[in-house]
Amino acid sequence: VIELGQPEHSVITTCAYCGVGCAFKAEMKGTQVVRMVPWKDGKANEGHSCVKGRFAWGYATHQDRITTPMIRAKITDPWREVSWEEAIAHAASEFRRIQAKHGQDAIGGITSSRCTNEETYLVQKLIRAAFGNNNVDTCARVCHSPTGYGLGQTFGTSAGTQTFKSVEKSDVILVIGANPAAAHPVFASRMKKRIRQGARLIVIDPRETEMVRGPHLQADFHLALRPGTNVAVISALAHVIVTEGLLADDYIAERCDEKSFKAWKDFVARPDNAPEAMEAITGVPAAVVRGAARLYATGNAEGVKTGRTVNSAIYYGLGVTEHAQGSTMVMGIANLAMACGMVGREGVGVNPLRGQNNVQGSCDMGSFPHELPGYRHISDTTTRSQFEAAWGVELSPEPGLRIPNMFDAALGGSFKGLYCEGEDIVQSDPNTQHVAAALSAMECIVVQDIFLNETAKYAHVFLPGSSFLEKDGTFTNAERRISRVRKVMPPLATYADWEVTQLLANALGYPMHYTHPREIMAEIAALTPSFAGVSYDKLDQHGSLQWPCNDSTPEIGTPIMHIDKFVRGKGRFIVTQYVATDEKVTPRFPLLLTTGRILSQYNVGAQTRRTPNNQWHSEDRLEIHPHDAEERGIHDGDWVGITSRAGETVLRATVTERIQPGVVYTTFHFPESGANVITTDSSDWATNCPEYKVTAVQVAPVTQP
Ligand code: SF4
Repeated sequence: VIELGQPEHSVITTCAYCGVGCAFKAEMKGTQVVRMVPWKDGKANEGHSCVKGRFAWGYATHQDRITTPMIRAKITDPWREVSWEEAIAHAASEFRRIQAKHGQDAIGGITSSRCTNEETYLVQKLIRAAFGNNNVDTCARVCHSPTGYGLGQTFGTSAGTQTFKSVEKSDVILVIGANPAAAHPVFASRMKKRIRQGARLIVIDPRETEMVRGPHLQADFHLALRPGTNVAVISALAHVIVTEGLLADDYIAERCDEKSFKAWKDFVARPDNAPEAMEAITGVPAAVVRGAARLYATGNAEGVKTGRTVNSAIYYGLGVTEHAQGSTMVMGIANLAMACGMVGREGVGVNPLRGQNNVQGSCDMGSFPHELPGYRHISDTTTRSQFEAAWGVELSPEPGLRIPNMFDAALGGSFKGLYCEGEDIVQSDPNTQHVAAALSAMECIVVQDIFLNETAKYAHVFLPGSSFLEKDGTFTNAERRISRVRKVMPPLATYADWEVTQLLANALGYPMHYTHPREIMAEIAALTPSFAGVSYDKLDQHGSLQWPCNDSTPEIGTPIMHIDKFVRGKGRFIVTQYVATDEKVTPRFPLLLTTGRILSQYNVGAQTRRTPNNQWHSEDRLEIHPHDAEERGIHDGDWVGITSRAGETVLRATVTERIQPGVVYTTFHFPESGANVITTDSSDWATNCPEYKVTAVQVAPVTQP
């Protein structure tokens, strides 16, 4: 504990770590934060917090912060500190030079789920209006892009259906590919409280996480599937519900599209989708699948319909989305919920647990190359005309490049310039060697960040970014809750991120003259129907708002979605055929690697590693089952080499029965561990979300590096 004295005043703001979006009181002495106290009136956290939000904010003033802009001609040159004017002018002239030489589409940009809604909106506006193309993508590409696609296809909107509070009404909680105890601790506490009150728990995860067995917690069913077989499991669960007469017939008849339901029902009823037939693929005993399906549909493991309304809720994470069939699985989850009538009231629903603070917001704000803010396709003439009139430009109707397409185009010679705000793509994207080669092939990379990150090693211009404590704006959490971020100290590097984007736009000849983020939010509200009722005044009045917030829900917005009907009208079932991933074990790579998070660290660790949280977890470890360890002569704590077809890295081993035989597991919080040196280019068929959760590897003892 660092004693900083008594606070003089406090400012309510929002945690910048995970998608729970806890509200905090920053207690201040002058412009120095004395401590962060969870705010009791925060709707997402109700006065609770975790070790990240409460204690790990010191990175904001860490000595590694870069506060002066820098440029260099070649990435082998040393950085040269320059004025803001010179850095911005240089970046703008390089981008225009590249466009003159290689064409308008030769540059693009990446928005960040760490930045505010207003900042994200401005970056995509800069790219569409000033760059003149749609080459904008978001780091959500590598986490929840399948959620956007899958829930959009089935329900008609790309967001979770519930408030966090809704779990207090759940009878059955189904957690799929998520470990909220480590990644969303404050919501996990709410969930665990409900379980202690008697709610039943089903966990689908290859690993025995803290949600399967932990202090005062024991899941009723743990479906410990083989990595990569999610869709086979969801089909088997659906098969039980259809063939044992557990469907919510009245709900389906009233709320869902009949034709698509019939096609789906005929598909899942096929014998090859039975749990017994799927057992050899998934590794999950058929009896466990049958018990879990009955529990989800009826509230009891015997599958007895009691006539009582049972509330079953699904919460899922990156163990669903980061697969070659990530979008298929999201649609499979939506199918299951509709089939059992579990959407549209408290206690039920389909809820993606967003990893980063503003993943939901970055997607809402039009960061995907095919969508303008509010998930409206760029090819839609009416929507495009609206933005063209407001922005005073003509927009291209063609979707731009996704992040992996940018890399491929760079290697092909047609993509030469990148504006990357608040995202360390070298550390966080798969197949580091491929990313590095693509960046090396570009002529101008502008990195805007608070630290000189791994991506900055390939950059030509570095623009200092601002932490959440240095700016105003909003974040949108996993329950669509828009909360204020309030400036508690002046930006260490003169400008907040939104101001830097504005400077760049002006230097490119596209005028932007916002004086405060509230003006940006007013523009977002004017152009985005689901945000039409959002304003800073209303946020200050209510504390937070949940979108859709417009004329039909003018006060606090919409806590529960799809109550009377789905956003798309009738809920649409989609046939979800299991297809084995290309990433298979072979004699050379006989184990499957999967990845996850730990409580005290956050994502690539850029923030938490620079705080006292590092004392609890200062390295990534490889978890390996005792059988696999013994076979290889590996003991707990030994150094091991991990090799995949993409690359190799070295970690220390933890020998544990939490992981099943044939599977190994690691976290990805430390750059020196290089988890993404070994992950491959495999990705989701619909969205290119990388298949981080399945990599065939070999593991062998090595001497300490
Ligand atoms: Fe921050 Fe998430 Fe922890 Fe809340 S649960 S304090 S939002 S990291």
